Amino acid sequence: MPPLVTLAFALAGLVVGSFLNVCIHRIPRRESLVWPASHCTACNRPLAWFENVPIVSWLLLRGRCRTCGVRISSMYPIVELTTAIVFAGGVAVYGLSALLMVRLAFASALVVLFAIDLQHQILPNVITVPGVVAGFAASWFLPPGWLSSLIGAIAGGGILLAIAEAYYRVRGQEGLGMGDVKMLAMIGAFLGWPLMILTLVLASFAGSLVGVALLASRRGGMQAALPFGTFLALGALVAAVAGDPMLAWYLSFY
Ligand SMILES: [Zn+2]
Repeated sequence: MPPLVTLAFALAGLVVGSFLNVCIHRIPRRESLVWPASHCTACNRPLAWFENVPIVSWLLLRGRCRTCGVRISSMYPIVELTTAIVFAGGVAVYGLSALLMVRLAFASALVVLFAIDLQHQILPNVITVPGVVAGFAASWFLPPGWLSSLIGAIAGGGILLAIAEAYYRVRGQEGLGMGDVKMLAMIGAFLGWPLMILTLVLASFAGSLVGVALLASRRGGMQAALPFGTFLALGALVAAVAGDPMLAWYLSFY
């Protein structure tokens, strides 16, 4: 891919990432995405254009509001940088194609779900439910094809629903939420059933590692609920980029 194209996608990623920050902040609070314009969430002062430049503004302002001095979460520049990397990496992996556009929209939804689940332990229906529909619709024309997408969505939701039900019967409390169920259905719809299963394996593995690390550092008890959607988002990003070679490598042992 020519460097200029990669650079253009990285810059587009910064701008999209800036919008994803708005989604991450406002969707859990049920606020409008378009109104009002960006403002400090503490003192409500509208932001000047130079306070709205992705990453750069946060660095120049040293992570604080110019007037009230309140701390601005490092989540903002991290989301912008991550989205830029995802966009630049996406064009390298998929080339300039219709599939690239679908996968970038999918990855953007994952970034939002990642951050919202981490901060609020919820996975909003306004993202996951249209996500299932969009993933299935796109699969009529693009990989993974409608059948793999349909099986991925049903099996993805079904597996987690069964696990959630079993956990509830054994432990008497909720371990997995319906948000996780719908999110894995969405991942299955976009990536197809083989990569959905890979996502689930990667997410469970990463979740266990972090869970054990938290236990070892005594920062969370056995009951501390890890946001599984956060790990599903990471797993799906890896599966979308490197999943096919990973599956081919795994299957080469059989
Ligand atoms: Zn302020």
